[in-house]
Amino acid sequence: MSKVIVVGGGASGMVSAIVAARNGSSVTILEKNNSLGKKILVTGNGKCNYFNDDFSINHYYSNNIDILDRIINDDNKKRVLDFFLSIGVIPDIKNGYYYPYSNQAISIVNALNIEIKRLGINVITNCYVNDIKYVNESYIVNDKYSCDKLIISSGSYSYYNYDDVNSYKLVSKLGFDIINPMPALVQLVINNKITKEWAGVRVYSKVKLYEDNKFVKEEEGEVLFTNYGVSGICIMQLSGIIARGLNDHKYSLVFNFIPNICDDDVVNFLDKYNSRCPNRKVIEIYDSLINYKLGNILVGNYGNKYYNELTLEEKNIIFNNLINYKINIDDTKGYKESQVCSGGVKLDSININSMESISNPGLYVIGELLDVNGDCGGYNLGFAWLSGIIAGDNCD
Ligand SMILES: Cc1cc2nc3c(=O)[nH]c(=O)nc-3n(C[C@H](O)[C@H](O)[C@H](O)COP(=O)(O)OP(=O)(O)OC[C@H]3O[C@@H](n4cnc5c(N)ncnc54)[C@H](O)[C@@H]3O)c2cc1C
Repeated sequence: MSKVIVVGGGASGMVSAIVAARNGSSVTILEKNNSLGKKILVTGNGKCNYFNDDFSINHYYSNNIDILDRIINDDNKKRVLDFFLSIGVIPDIKNGYYYPYSNQAISIVNALNIEIKRLGINVITNCYVNDIKYVNESYIVNDKYSCDKLIISSGSYSYYNYDDVNSYKLVSKLGFDIINPMPALVQLVINNKITKEWAGVRVYSKVKLYEDNKFVKEEEGEVLFTNYGVSGICIMQLSGIIARGLNDHKYSLVFNFIPNICDDDVVNFLDKYNSRCPNRKVIEIYDSLINYKLGNILVGNYGNKYYNELTLEEKNIIFNNLINYKINIDDTKGYKESQVCSGGVKLDSININSMESISNPGLYVIGELLDVNGDCGGYNLGFAWLSGIIAGDNCD
């Protein structure tokens, strides 16, 4: 029977502890907070979007995506879903997004805690791990706790103040190479006074991301215009690419505010509609298509001109903003505002089928501390659970 210590009782750590204990190991969780799974409580706006039916590699990012690809498959999807059924979580599946049927994140935390208690796992809270040594084939934690298998699941900077997180220091000292962690799934910052005018506007939009004027990726969904820049799920989905590249590249977003009714040739589209009511002003046309606050910004000085008096060239200039409105991105918000971090422990330093370090036997790294981040939609917790199951199954 192995003696296992889990450093960090969050999403991945709780699951790894349960699976290891079910396999017969004697397990202790060391958690710096006063209870386990605190971050889970704020996920999915308090509802916890804990998994996604479309469990495919296309939703994940890593500098070693080929290594990650080996475990993102249907067998492992089943392992995660079976795990949740085994702790009594009944899913509510909305368009492939998994929530607990109660629609309360606390149901997930409670179910995990009940199983931890049932298995007799030793939980030590208010325990900040800041020292790990390997002596005589044992891991010694804080000069106090010893074990033969150590799972590190202490998470990333995201949601916390930079100075409060020591995860990366802990693993660096143990010899792991780290890819610089950056905020991902985070709001974008625009240093332009125009943001004061659009603050509070929500619109449905198609958003194209350009890196050094080259198209990179497109997302579609609700965009929230704020006094610091832009937010919303589709913006967050693009943010990871921007955060990773901001030091070396220039990024811009191009919005189509009237997607699905017009993707190009906006003048032809407007000509068709305006033939029925010929005497409309430019501002009235904007007003009929998008949020009035945004419309007022986009029309510039042309608001009082009559559509029918414009030349084709003028129409193209004036209405291009509806389908090609470009803004330059200056920065992303920081770690504290981010939902996850990109970067982390390099995947080529662990065996992905066990999560065990290649050079340090008995040492496992799981969850967001690894160089894996996913799209919004249950993918990040999905990876946290899966990496916990894999480590728990292999540390006996
Ligand atoms: C606002 C928000 C909403 C989110 N919503 C979703 C969502 O709906 N769906 C989704 O898939 N993902 C979501 N995520 C992301 C998801 O929460 C994380 O990817 C996931 O929690 C990572 O799991 P983890 O086990 O790696 O880390 P964590 O869950 O962060 O757990 C790490 C644990 O280690 C403890 N710890 C840290 N350092 C030490 C130390 N030195 N000693 C002892 N203990 C330590 C921490 O206190 C924590 O309990 C969201 C994140 C945020 C911030």
